[in-house]
Amino acid sequence: MATINENFLKLQKNYLFADIAQKVAAYKDAHPEAQIIRLGIGDVTRPLAPAVIAALHKAVDEMGAADTFRGYGPEHGYEFLRRAIVENDFAPRGVQIDADEIFVNDGAKSDTGNFGDILGQDNSICVTDPIYPVYIDSNVMGGRAGEFSHGAWSSITYCPCNEANGFVPALPNKPTDMIYLCYPNNPTGTTLSRAELEKWVNYALQHGSILLYDAAYEAYITTPGIPHSIYEIPGAKRCAVEFHSYSKTAGFTGLRCGYTVVPHELTVTTKQGETVSLNQLWNRRQCTKFNGTAYIVQRAAEAIYSHEGQQQVRDTIDYYMENARIMREALAQAGLKVFGGVDAPYIWFKTPEGTGSWAFFEKLLHDIHVVSTPGVGFGPAGEGYIRLTAFGRREDCTEAMHRLLNSNL
Ligand SMILES: *Cc1c(COP(=O)(O)O)cnc(C)c1O
Repeated sequence: MATINENFLKLQKNYLFADIAQKVAAYKDAHPEAQIIRLGIGDVTRPLAPAVIAALHKAVDEMGAADTFRGYGPEHGYEFLRRAIVENDFAPRGVQIDADEIFVNDGAKSDTGNFGDILGQDNSICVTDPIYPVYIDSNVMGGRAGEFSHGAWSSITYCPCNEANGFVPALPNKPTDMIYLCYPNNPTGTTLSRAELEKWVNYALQHGSILLYDAAYEAYITTPGIPHSIYEIPGAKRCAVEFHSYSKTAGFTGLRCGYTVVPHELTVTTKQGETVSLNQLWNRRQCTKFNGTAYIVQRAAEAIYSHEGQQQVRDTIDYYMENARIMREALAQAGLKVFGGVDAPYIWFKTPEGTGSWAFFEKLLHDIHVVSTPGVGFGPAGEGYIRLTAFGRREDCTEAMHRLLNSNL
């Protein structure tokens, strides 16, 4: 008789964005005239860059001619893209990455969720709190999270990030094996300085931990001196895997492409004390379970690194960051405490007078018809905060802020 993987039954029933969608739909049913503005879900709204579209057209034509047609590609990704990544995303920052250390994928969600496949079942987990839910849920599926009670998992160490500590997480107070860091952070929009990242790298080296570093928002960093890659920190190649995505960088949420860096120097030991290369093990896993990202999509990703592509992508990021500036300033003017929005397309603000996240979410929906994301949906330390995304249309962001400033919220 077949049974199921019971870890999946431990997952909490309602997915945050499904809850939100349900509340918005119910409100809309009752108030069909309300002009609702959605600043909740982290999806982009600007179209793909012209350089990307041109590359897609060209690659499509190649697929239609016998002598340029491509079937299965290398599981690691095409050399042309891996070279472009090495030369543009790392070399200019003084980071030497080998093309064999890059694994092109269909987006960072897949690899952040799957990487646990090759790591020990008994590893302890550490996350900063609040956090992108994939890190936790994938470890629930993998059987590493323990039991859920009072909003937290018993076997996961949470490092709270809040106003009191300036959104700088303290190191875990007990040794942990797998540590998820996301900087610039979703949902708080905050970053960590070089000195703070050095603490985490040194901790990982000292305890033999692995840092799973999600750099999905790296392209949004504007403050000089903030590292764009964990490999800017000495020793990180011996303890960190890094995840990148073209979704937020270049509007690829619907096209699907990203990459993971697994350095050759990164090794883990077996229970018998044998040393294993994570690069080789991840390669073996990918060759078995993944058959590569579409050729046309990899050509589209390559085009981001062309001269025009870089300029066009930069213009779109600037558009979103101008949205962020408008929202940050309006929220501050309304007397709210605002964080993020400088090095990331997320605004994180404190609800007034200790109102709960969900209560204030409803107030925003009912009073000014703006959809936000309740901070508590990203973890217990998010209670009392709200996330807004800067990925909306400019006119929606300005209208939402106009409504806010003319309300008595
Ligand atoms: C959006 C996002 C990703 C990217 O996901 P894709 O699968 O590449 O679209 C990864 N990590 C975080 C924290 C994100 O917010």
